[in-house]
Amino acid sequence: MHEFTPEVEALAAEILSYSLHRLKSDPPLDGPLTADELFSAVGNTITAKGLGGQEALEVFTSVLAKACISTDHPRNLAFIPSAPSEYANLFDLVVGASALYGGSWQEGSGAVFAENQALRWLSDLAGLPKSAGGVFVQGGTMGNLSALVVARAQARMKWPEVTSWSIACSEEAHSSIAAAAHVMDVDILHIAPDEFGKLRGESAGRVIDEFHASTTSRVFALIATAGTTNLGIIDDLKGVGEAAKERDLWFHVDGAYGLAALASPKLKPKFVGVEMADSFIVDPHKWLFAPFDACALIYRNPELARSVHTQHASYLDTLQEDGAWNPSDYAIHLTRRTRGLPFWFSLAAHGTDAYAEAMDATMEIARQAAEKISAHPDLELICQPELSVVAFTRRGWGPSDYQKWSEALLKDQIGFIPPSSHHGKPILRFAIVNPWTKVRDIDEILATL
Ligand SMILES: *Cc1c(COP(=O)(O)O)cnc(C)c1O
Repeated sequence: MHEFTPEVEALAAEILSYSLHRLKSDPPLDGPLTADELFSAVGNTITAKGLGGQEALEVFTSVLAKACISTDHPRNLAFIPSAPSEYANLFDLVVGASALYGGSWQEGSGAVFAENQALRWLSDLAGLPKSAGGVFVQGGTMGNLSALVVARAQARMKWPEVTSWSIACSEEAHSSIAAAAHVMDVDILHIAPDEFGKLRGESAGRVIDEFHASTTSRVFALIATAGTTNLGIIDDLKGVGEAAKERDLWFHVDGAYGLAALASPKLKPKFVGVEMADSFIVDPHKWLFAPFDACALIYRNPELARSVHTQHASYLDTLQEDGAWNPSDYAIHLTRRTRGLPFWFSLAAHGTDAYAEAMDATMEIARQAAEKISAHPDLELICQPELSVVAFTRRGWGPSDYQKWSEALLKDQIGFIPPSSHHGKPILRFAIVNPWTKVRDIDEILATL
């Protein structure tokens, strides 16, 4: 180890060639194996003497990689899949080879500078002031938690007498909000959305006021979702933002999936109100063509976030001199990969227009998919897609029919579309974030329904 021998050189060529091949060709969909099946194929790979690079690579390429579903396959429409651009993936190789440290300005200024420009683009699109800023964290779950911790810290300063705290959000809010509440040991005040699944400011305000009149627990943050994961619904950001401001509450916008669409001038008007946010998140690994894992977390007032999240220790205080911008200080983490760099590179290289085009292309496929589903005699759209999630039901099917269909679809290597549910009933959904997904892919899937 730690010697660049001719064997390393040869292995490097193989690894790069494998990576290029993976980037160039349509990936196979592949699928999971059981731990027993994997063990009988590769045995115990950790040995005292090592397998050697060649053999370890062979184990990966011939067995392990094939037991991982390709999230960038054009007919993988599950959950929210991923579609990194070639440039973003290529630059991930550079990041991996460069031992960059993204926690502090002192160690990573060049990388942090670039990441900050990418964050600035997102912040400007959302209409936050120039003083806004933040950090790329691992994912939306960490982004939401880090933002909510700052929100509560601010509330504690405003209302020092309060001992019991609550987060207000829609019943349709993402599961990571409940996870954050659990970690923070706070309660959740759920607010029913309207008949279209949108959280409205008027009902949010009313429910919060009633809550405050009936208990000593106090709401410290009101959350709107800009693109729900299940159906792609955008809450009434303006109304909810105003309800938050009127009550002096932190307004957080969870746009992990949907706020990516700010990149398209055509879609941007859907997010009016996001400019009121005290914090927001968007995951470039979802719909902004970046590899896993990267969530952009932006604060209106990063100074406040810094005062809450900075870790203090004798060996760290040197980093705090002259007010340097240390990404570690803006979320719950210390050591960090410069995970925003692949996104930055692709954005810098292609320019923002290419992002708008790619976004519009995926929206057009979603629109056509919705049209085809509406026209299909056995399928029923749940709602007109507001973003690129198209959700529907199959007439006459029960839960086991959906499950069987989904399993067969993967087994036949046609697509990956696990069933979801809506109001307790099974549904199917296409989450279209991949510009490689074409109308013929939609047709191929619909032909199996
Ligand atoms: C995906 C998602 C999250 C969680 O993001 P991760 O990156 O998976 O942690 C949060 N909120 C919404 C609306 C999401 O779609």
